[in-house]
Amino acid sequence: MSFVADRLSRIKPSPTIAVTTKAAELRAAGRDVIGLGAGEPDFDTPDFIKNAAKKAMDEGKTKYTPVDGTPELKDAIIAKFKRDNDLDYARDQITVGTGGKQVLYNALMASVNPGDEVIIPAPYWVSYPDMVLLAEGTPVIVPCTADNNFRMSAADLEAAITPKTKWLIFNSPSNPTGAGYTKDEIKALTDVLLKHPHVNVMTDDMYEHLLYDGGVYATPAQVEPKLYDRTLTINGVSKSYSMTGWRIGYAGGPKELIKAMAKIQSQSTSNPCSISQAAAHEALSGDQSFLKEWVAAFQERRDLVVSMLNEAEGLECIKPEGAFYVYPSCAGCLGKTTPDGTVIQNDQDFVTYLLEAEGVAAVHGEAFGLSPHFRVSYATSLDVLKEACTRIQRACAALK
Ligand code: GLU
Repeated sequence: MSFVADRLSRIKPSPTIAVTTKAAELRAAGRDVIGLGAGEPDFDTPDFIKNAAKKAMDEGKTKYTPVDGTPELKDAIIAKFKRDNDLDYARDQITVGTGGKQVLYNALMASVNPGDEVIIPAPYWVSYPDMVLLAEGTPVIVPCTADNNFRMSAADLEAAITPKTKWLIFNSPSNPTGAGYTKDEIKALTDVLLKHPHVNVMTDDMYEHLLYDGGVYATPAQVEPKLYDRTLTINGVSKSYSMTGWRIGYAGGPKELIKAMAKIQSQSTSNPCSISQAAAHEALSGDQSFLKEWVAAFQERRDLVVSMLNEAEGLECIKPEGAFYVYPSCAGCLGKTTPDGTVIQNDQDFVTYLLEAEGVAAVHGEAFGLSPHFRVSYATSLDVLKEACTRIQRACAALK
């Protein structure tokens, strides 16, 4: 007899979390490990946000809240969607969950029937396909290679649509590639969706504020208002406000779906943490000017990492538009032998070698659905990144 249900055989543990955990364990055991695995900004949560949380505790906001968010936070989210995305929502079109991850999970659980297809451009964030599988849906993976800067073309999207397609999951700037679609590129995709009224779009806008070189952000429901009724626009405070541990994500979308998502939440977590909701309210409605400095810091880090990785023998790295990831190809390292005699056969072997030989933790591309690549998170200081890239260069140079 096994305790474990059959549905668990469809999925694997999150590889991004696994790499982060492994790096922390090695560090605790005394190894000198640089973690480029976690998608987590190194900045502290700004004081004005922390103070709002302290105040909430002092005021006794420590009890259950309405299932899918306090009215105050929902109003701040409505104002945010209007201010940043020119999207209009009412309170009953807004949901708040325990991180963007739970919002995505609720949405898929609430809407996917067995056999429904969900189009996922690859490279994708590791959890999309597994969440679809848990919901008994079928992930339809569309490869988007470095040749097209990791973007899905209109023709790729058109070819992936069938009568069973329920959703397209769209993520820009992208985890893991950093690819940021322009408004015109999004328009090309939304034009395809207009031709297929049964296909809905779920956007993961988590990296909205992290766009470089003056890039202008756009999200599908804003680019094509005719898709408003078919779009769930998901966002969160984790990345933009360095609030990963607070676990607050949110979405705006069709009432019927929002209500169904609340039904699931009412039977699982009841509500997102009351104190985190107060903090997220402050994050979204407080002074946003600090973001400029953070974006400048990330841009400098991206430039350093891209140039140093491109100097490493066997690696090729595209300079992406946003987020805090790069997704270099390690094709030039495959078939080579490490100093201890192991042949590097794939990106998993390559990242294992980086960790063992040089103590650098990164995530293998296979986890994100496109090999041979690996993901580097550059959400750490310039000094640490310089050291990490020097080690990667040394590891590559040692391959024969
Ligand atoms: N989204 C982050 C990452 O990709 C956090 C870990 C996770 O939830 O996957 O690293």
